[in-house]
Amino acid sequence: MRIHRLNPQLISQIAAGEVVERPASVVKELLENSLDAGATRIELEVEHGGVRLIRIHDNGSGIHKDDLLLALSSHATSKIASLADLERIASLGFRGEALPSIASVSRLTLISRATGQDSGWKLLGSREPSHHPIPIAHPVGTTVEVRDLFFNTPARRKFLRGERTEFGHLEDVVKRIALSRFDVEIKLRHNQRPVMLLHPANVYTEQEQRLAALCGRAFRENAVFLDQKAAGLQLWGWIGLPAFSRSQADLQYFFVNRRMARDKLATHAVRQAYQDVLYQGRYPAFVLYLELDPSLVDVNAHPAKHEVRFRESRLVHDFLFHTLHEVLAQVRPGTPALPAVPPTLVTPPDPAWCSHSEQQAMPLPVQEQMIAYAGVHPETDPSPPIAEQGSAEEPPPLGYAVAQLHGIYVLAENAAGLVLVDMHAAHERITYERLKTSLEQEGIRSQPLLVPITVTLSRREVQWVEERAELFANMGMEVAPLGPETVIIRRIPALLAGADAAQLLRDVLADLLTHGTSTRMGETLYETLSTLACHGSVRANRQLTLVEMNALLRDMERTERSGQCNHGRPTWVQFKLEELDKLFLRGR
Ligand code: ADP
Ligand code: MG
Repeated sequence: MRIHRLNPQLISQIAAGEVVERPASVVKELLENSLDAGATRIELEVEHGGVRLIRIHDNGSGIHKDDLLLALSSHATSKIASLADLERIASLGFRGEALPSIASVSRLTLISRATGQDSGWKLLGSREPSHHPIPIAHPVGTTVEVRDLFFNTPARRKFLRGERTEFGHLEDVVKRIALSRFDVEIKLRHNQRPVMLLHPANVYTEQEQRLAALCGRAFRENAVFLDQKAAGLQLWGWIGLPAFSRSQADLQYFFVNRRMARDKLATHAVRQAYQDVLYQGRYPAFVLYLELDPSLVDVNAHPAKHEVRFRESRLVHDFLFHTLHEVLAQVRPGTPALPAVPPTLVTPPDPAWCSHSEQQAMPLPVQEQMIAYAGVHPETDPSPPIAEQGSAEEPPPLGYAVAQLHGIYVLAENAAGLVLVDMHAAHERITYERLKTSLEQEGIRSQPLLVPITVTLSRREVQWVEERAELFANMGMEVAPLGPETVIIRRIPALLAGADAAQLLRDVLADLLTHGTSTRMGETLYETLSTLACHGSVRANRQLTLVEMNALLRDMERTERSGQCNHGRPTWVQFKLEELDKLFLRGR
């Protein structure tokens, strides 16, 4: 075959291959066009998952009658005119490809009335040479109707899934757009039934309502709002409390200048920020908005504009990481933004958490039972005695301990109602944060054992201990091989004085061996500290005195990240008085 030019229809169909994958991608392009036209109200009507019909109506600025034909032509756009424009794009679209691509693989009708025109005009997307706009009654704005997607490209049609699946994808796109623009009213109907009705949300409480409608009430109630600026960057939005983690990365929304973006850099920064508060294999939930000068982002990195590139990626990464890390560190009792966990959320626990509850059933070594909380932390300053509670001073956020339940929980009374604390989880986090702080400041202080302890291990373990003497030294443990199958422990971390040294060593070894040792030294060290903290902390069934319980509560208030244990389980739960009243049908 000789070389020849492709006809425009085929060119558009090829281009459509990149942009139009399924009904959801059509909706994305059309919604973006409406937003670019300044619409404040958008209505979507969808039939059969969007395959049979997608009709979108907006109240934007409309398209001039004489531009209608151009709007359906390839490489025609009103959004950029020069390379300089391309380098600092404020609109969502700029390629001038969406409408012609969609028109080439469907039956498309475009109706629009531009501001200032006294009638609407309608144009069919088919490529008959004779066709021109005909007048039609229409308010200012645009309606685009897309019927029978892929009717003329059977190969693509085959890749479409069932109605439910296609609609699911489509709904997800609408959701993302709705999260990107709280000020725009959005309505979605599927097969004549209303599916989504979102009013404009201009004040914070309304935005929270939209957030709850789109991401679930549980997310709203377990998320912290943040808004930080630095170095010309702004990050705002909501991040889920670590204890509200997910088994999938399905509640992660990231917008760059209000454009939804999949970005590896951001995902990495977020993961790092959550690293040491999240249960292994769990995913954080977030809805985050990054705003920056458009010239610092390259949005022309992907045909469907799914990806962005940052000119100063290091700066962006560090800004994201530090901001989120800082916010997460502040999550502790008394954080004003920290919402109460409603009781319904507490049970049943997530399966991933359950695997850890075996900790509580472990038989307790006698020695461990004798370490009182206050004994482990002699520097703790116990709270004022109960008698002083009536004083004019504000009661502390977690209130005062009332009782210990089943040797596991501390029950406390605070201003809002009742607080329930998981003793072990809370103590574990406190110990871990202390170990980390002392590691960062002066190295973990160790303390000699009165009587060094010999421990019998496997040959492999002994060898392992020998090779990693330095790692153990950094953690404040001095362990040396004594024979092929025995080691001697001479010193343990001062913070864990009184803990069962042999047990500690075994636990740490078991963890290190199962989790592998391939991770970098620093991470290994943190993981090991976490293990140390876990096994060296108060266990269930230990009787605490009121003074000790109050000391624990005060420690939680002081400790960063104390809202969840090292594994990401919550350490405490608030039961509000109103919730208790409701249980007893007490009207107000
Ligand atoms: P792009 O959005 O990249 O410019 P499109 O093919 O999506 O390319 O749209 C072509 C042009 O049609 C746009 O530049 C815009 O001027 C006009 N247009 C499309 N949809 C709308 C709309 N809903 N309201 C107003 N103008 C629109
Ligand atoms: Mg467009």
